[in-house]
Amino acid sequence: MTRNELIERLKDPNPSSMKALMEEAYRVKRENLGPKVFLRGLVEVSNLCSKNCYYCGIRRENGKVHRYRMSDEEVFRAARWTWENRYGSLVLQGGEVSSPEFVRDVTRWIEGIVRLSGGELGITLSLGEQSLETYRRWYDTGAHRYLLRIETSSPELYGKLHPQDHSFKDRVAALERIREAGFQVGTGVMMGLPFQSLENMADDILFFQNLDIDMIGMGPYIPHQETPLPNMDASWTFDPVRQLTLGLKMIALTRLQLPTVNIASTTALEALHPEGRERGLLAGANVIMPQVGEGVYRKEYLLYEGKPVNEKSPQEVREEMERRLASIGAVIGYGEWGDSLHARNRGAGARR
Ligand code: SAH
Ligand code: SF4
Repeated sequence: MTRNELIERLKDPNPSSMKALMEEAYRVKRENLGPKVFLRGLVEVSNLCSKNCYYCGIRRENGKVHRYRMSDEEVFRAARWTWENRYGSLVLQGGEVSSPEFVRDVTRWIEGIVRLSGGELGITLSLGEQSLETYRRWYDTGAHRYLLRIETSSPELYGKLHPQDHSFKDRVAALERIREAGFQVGTGVMMGLPFQSLENMADDILFFQNLDIDMIGMGPYIPHQETPLPNMDASWTFDPVRQLTLGLKMIALTRLQLPTVNIASTTALEALHPEGRERGLLAGANVIMPQVGEGVYRKEYLLYEGKPVNEKSPQEVREEMERRLASIGAVIGYGEWGDSLHARNRGAGARR
């Protein structure tokens, strides 16, 4: 699709066009990638963050958050559970910290996870912007995928969503370093942000395409009261239905444009609708990231409001997810890394 076609399809308010778009994207997903959905156990390792993004609940200046970093034992317990339950891979996600101590912690976690799973568990990192040296170190230790959302492909909008010392250029440069270190590269954006236009979102999809991205995690923006962004744009109001619709349309259009990448159906969709995650899969996504870490930390990792924080055990989370996936006819790719076809074609981050 051209930019104009993308914009037209984003604009189209007709429910029957929306339904047709979902069906088309789901068909393209199944034709290219089959019925499988891959799992990544999501471990929210730390909510300490040196950044101050205007939208995020764990930004540095939110003094109401109780800060934590998981112990080795907690990370390894979550990883062992993920491996024993044959999820195939896991994601270590957290706030952005680049102290030598944190870099060492993560390196030790990667080593430990490789050891405890005999190298079977795939490891994705989502720990923000780091130096090439750090990315190389983590890659060489055994991680093979990295997620760093660009948040928006518009430098102007990026400037409105972040303080002066956060830079769009630096973020793009970090994505390039991630690729240079050898990782499969994941990025993504938020949809339905204050100040964001449909043209911006069409450009986001073209940005993924131009950067030759392997995997995409994107979700609707959801306000958090202890952050500045919700009050910065007087013309913006939170409409959960609009956010969900935009989220699903963007997944579907991205799938049509990039048939072989991995696309995650993210937690933000679930926060907006109890069946949001399944609807994301039906819109062409092929990855889900169930939380596997300790339930006790979940209420401290609130990036936005309404994030599902029940303290369910990973076992309960798994049973519920299996029931829901079976209901839409999806097949879980147990025990597989589930690298994107796009990354495999590119030969990136392949370790076996
Ligand atoms: N600190 C790392 C990873 C953790 S944040 C990083 O920023 O890359 C992970 C993602 O959460 C961010 O990329 C952002 O897109 C998303 N996020 C943050 N606040 C959000 C909000 N209010 N609504 C929806 N998504 C949000
Ligand atoms: Fe920190 Fe990531 Fe939140 Fe920004 S989005 S404040 S970098 S955790």
